[in-house]
Amino acid sequence: MKRIYLTLLSISVLLNCISAYAWGPKGHDVVAAIAEQHLTKKAKKNLDKLLDGNSIVYYSSWMDNIQNSPYWKDGYNKTKTWHYANVDKGETYQTMKKNEKGDVVSALTMLTKELTENYDNLTDSMRVDYVKMIIHMVGDLHCPMHAGRLTDRGGNGCKVKWFGQKTNLHSVWDSKMIDSARKWSYSEWRDHLDRKDKKFKKAAVQGTYEEWFMGTVENAAEIYDYVERQEKAEPNLSYQFVYDFSPMLEEQLLLGGLRLAHVLNSIF
Ligand SMILES: [Zn+2]
Repeated sequence: MKRIYLTLLSISVLLNCISAYAWGPKGHDVVAAIAEQHLTKKAKKNLDKLLDGNSIVYYSSWMDNIQNSPYWKDGYNKTKTWHYANVDKGETYQTMKKNEKGDVVSALTMLTKELTENYDNLTDSMRVDYVKMIIHMVGDLHCPMHAGRLTDRGGNGCKVKWFGQKTNLHSVWDSKMIDSARKWSYSEWRDHLDRKDKKFKKAAVQGTYEEWFMGTVENAAEIYDYVERQEKAEPNLSYQFVYDFSPMLEEQLLLGGLRLAHVLNSIF
């Protein structure tokens, strides 16, 4: 019994840790799987070579896992703040207090620049790492609570209930929302979301990392407004929330996928 309890405890600790960092694996897989369908032949060929035949979906959560691995801790410790940027109400990326260790926008900008302007001077392992990080971070850039407020650590300090269970707003958006909305696999999500016309797709990839991020900030603001309108201090979010925010979830996953393809096509 004790062993079962300890196992359950370590699973829940593990889940808590994962939930603090990103879309859960499902969200990142959906983003990468959508991107995969929009890669140019040339980009696909170059990525195949670089990633040793593995798909971009295969590496979509690599960056979350590597930072928690004790073996790699020192080497990748510096990437811990690269998954998000916390913006308080009324602030923009320009005006917000910047994290000196970097954030999702500055890290994406830096790595993309390295791969486009400094490719020849990078080692193979640097190229591979940077690509894997970009695959992941473009996903995080579109996850609303990765653009949450600094005062509540991106929704981690915003207590809510999810179908009656105590949790926080960050965790709701990382994985609970996507897991509750549909019982689809990542490829089913991809097939149902990636159905827009050329005009939509062309418009979707316009802009910069910063502009894309500010779109996510607007989503986060809508979510905060909704939670603050609830009468209880620790509101119970359930079916109505899933219904109201599914269009946002779907659009962010789709935009993330289309834009990831655009970034990779531009690099390769
Ligand atoms: Zn992440």
